[in-house]
Amino acid sequence: MSDHDFISGSKPIPLERGEGPSLYAKDGTEYLDAGASYACTPLGHSHPAVVEAVQEQVGELTFVDSSFPVESRENAYAALVASAPAGLESAWFCNSGTEANEAALKFARSATGNSKIIAATRSFHGRTMGSLAATWKDAYKKPFEPLAGDVEFVPYGDSEELAEAVDDETAAVILEPIQGEGGINVPPAGYLETARERTEEAGAALVFDEVQTGMGRTGEMWACQNAGVTPDILTTAKGLGNGLPVGGVVVRDWIADGAASHNATFSGGPVVTAAVHATISTLLEEEWPAHAAELGEYLTSELEAALGEEVREVRGEGLLVGIELKRGSNRVARDLALEHQILALPAGRTVLRLLPPLVIDEAEADSIVAALAEIVAPEAQAES
Ligand code: PMP
Repeated sequence: MSDHDFISGSKPIPLERGEGPSLYAKDGTEYLDAGASYACTPLGHSHPAVVEAVQEQVGELTFVDSSFPVESRENAYAALVASAPAGLESAWFCNSGTEANEAALKFARSATGNSKIIAATRSFHGRTMGSLAATWKDAYKKPFEPLAGDVEFVPYGDSEELAEAVDDETAAVILEPIQGEGGINVPPAGYLETARERTEEAGAALVFDEVQTGMGRTGEMWACQNAGVTPDILTTAKGLGNGLPVGGVVVRDWIADGAASHNATFSGGPVVTAAVHATISTLLEEEWPAHAAELGEYLTSELEAALGEEVREVRGEGLLVGIELKRGSNRVARDLALEHQILALPAGRTVLRLLPPLVIDEAEADSIVAALAEIVAPEAQAES
């Protein structure tokens, strides 16, 4: 059922503790998390600010329906809206990335009165029926059809095709500012701007799925800020609660005003929102997005220098890095884990993806580069 049992499939690594960017196995072996926590722990494992906030909240008030104001939710709400680009003024919490996108598509349809959704080839937006309908890969979809209808796919990164597809029947264009599962694909300059212009002209909602790109990873709090493009709806999850299950949707007023009723019991639960508030505050106060930008640039250039001709490409933004390999990504991920105690995830058959906690340092980046050089460029290593 999981796409990620490439390591445990061959030799399980039972992990029991995490601290910062490190994970510790039962036998005491230390692993470097270069993606094992899947962008969910931007502050590193068991960050004291988050642990403390959650422990305090769970002992004080674990749950009450969202119709009753609770301080942790109010704080998280304010922090999320303040962290979003200007113009995104209201938020709604949910439990996961797919649920955030599900909500985004529902909000867009009800606010526009249209049904057509435009998504991109190689997209990934989640596994529930609506988000899955906007996800590209047939293998994820076919066994579950029919999915939600009226989704049209356009080639990711192609401004012209996107501009042509948007018309006055369009409810939403949904895009990842940089594609994650699709292989860390960075769109050409001007692409997100075109999406913005065309949706605005057509009265459609522009949805940016920042589930993987958000929370400081690309050097700005949200990846769309690198391009200076603000969507109508921004979705987030993964790192939002530094490992606790929580998602969010941040919207412009016209979406908030026009969207029909949508909710979920656990929306904005006190415990997860305590984690959200602690995570966002710490990320911004300690300026981890800027660190991600700087270290990401360092990591990328070191990878390029060390791997050179042995890989096809190193790409990404900040600490969202994809390495297009000349051989299978599962094998390289497995060798990294078993031979070098570095845990990373593939993104497709030939791309190895590095998604470390943003708190990794230069020495840890160096160890990733050295290990990869040994795996993919052993001859170059021997010569130097
Ligand atoms: N959107 C993107 C861009 C993602 O990367 C993911 C998860 N890989 C999702 C949505 C789905 O999130 P979740 O697994 O929390 O439902």
